[in-house]
Amino acid sequence: MMKLIYTRRYNIGFLGLERLHPFDSRKYGRAWRAIGSVGRLLRDRALVGVPRPVSVAELSVTHDPSYLARLGDPRELAWVLELPFLRRLPAWAVWRAVLRPMRWAVAGSLVAAREALTHGLALNLSGGYHHARPNGGEGFCVFNDIAHLVHGLRTAGRLAPDDRVVYVDLDAHQGNGVCHHFRSDPRVFLYDAFNPHIYPAHDQEARRRIDCAVPLPDHCTGGEYMRLLNLTLPGFLDSVCRSGRVGLAVYNAGTDVFAGDTLGGLNLTAADVLARDLYVIEQLRGRVVPTVMLLSGGYSRESYRLVANTAVELLRRYPTGRGAG
Ligand SMILES: [Zn+2]
Repeated sequence: MMKLIYTRRYNIGFLGLERLHPFDSRKYGRAWRAIGSVGRLLRDRALVGVPRPVSVAELSVTHDPSYLARLGDPRELAWVLELPFLRRLPAWAVWRAVLRPMRWAVAGSLVAAREALTHGLALNLSGGYHHARPNGGEGFCVFNDIAHLVHGLRTAGRLAPDDRVVYVDLDAHQGNGVCHHFRSDPRVFLYDAFNPHIYPAHDQEARRRIDCAVPLPDHCTGGEYMRLLNLTLPGFLDSVCRSGRVGLAVYNAGTDVFAGDTLGGLNLTAADVLARDLYVIEQLRGRVVPTVMLLSGGYSRESYRLVANTAVELLRRYPTGRGAG
């Protein structure tokens, strides 16, 4: 069955941020309501809350303390989030308005990963900050929730020391921060299909770490996208599953592959995005790999609807029954 992880604290609704940035900082709440408008009962039965945000001490396990200290300076955060006006704000305001919701989201990704191990499938209605490196944030990503959840499961013993983790990144942007976090961890296998002509094209060091890289053509349509996915993903998963136990899959399901997205440079329709998500989940479930799905990027006004479409369909396919955990 599927679990849905959400808290209203994910949403950044302060300082007018949502009007100044391509990132729809309230898409989480919008997606939550859109799911409820067509499947309220399914949604509410699947809900798992998040007890608290991740602490700075917990973040210092996967991020350099010197980087976390730098975040006390609004100029650092203005650079990471590409929002120059943040430079002029007091540090406390930036922490409360921007970093606190992100700390909730990072905590939510670990909750979702735990639920995935117990129930097979979990969707965090946030997270997927795949550009954040151990020693610095970039590309709207401050903390790397993927590194946090993998480390959290390992230290809690929920993943055995030699359990493998499969990471499937289908956000339009290459997940360079994840590559840097797992640069020398051979237990994490990285699959990444991305637009090679956009940010972070400069980061060749990250690209070299990808185990299966699928550069997509500019303005790639759904047909071509699915053809490439079909050609590469099953073989990649087979090769990883054949030679060792896979404890968890992380699916970073960015919706910036959508044709209406201003940053992704790809050309998928809403129906294509839904078909893509269902295909990936089926591929992972078919191999009995517990799967946690994260939202990652999505910069169009339609992004929350795309998320809701996938969530509703997954909830219908893998419902949480009455009284079921
Ligand atoms: Zn992206």
